[in-house]
Amino acid sequence: MANNELAESEPGQFAHYTHRQHLAGNTIDGKAVRGLCGVYFVPTQDHDAMPCCPICQERLAELPS
Ligand SMILES: [Zn+2]
Repeated sequence: MANNELAESEPGQFAHYTHRQHLAGNTIDGKAVRGLCGVYFVPTQDHDAMPCCPICQERLAELPS
């Protein structure tokens, strides 16, 4: 996964954020969960290799910690 490919990532290839309780249950099952931006996606172990969804990042920053 080369960093110089990030700018040409296709839609749907963002790493979305979701609530942790969703990730805990669904990562193994391969089920789609709803990201903070409202997009449904299937969490994968390649999550860290994808560019972060900018909308999810905004929503995450607004969440109380
Ligand atoms: Zn998102």
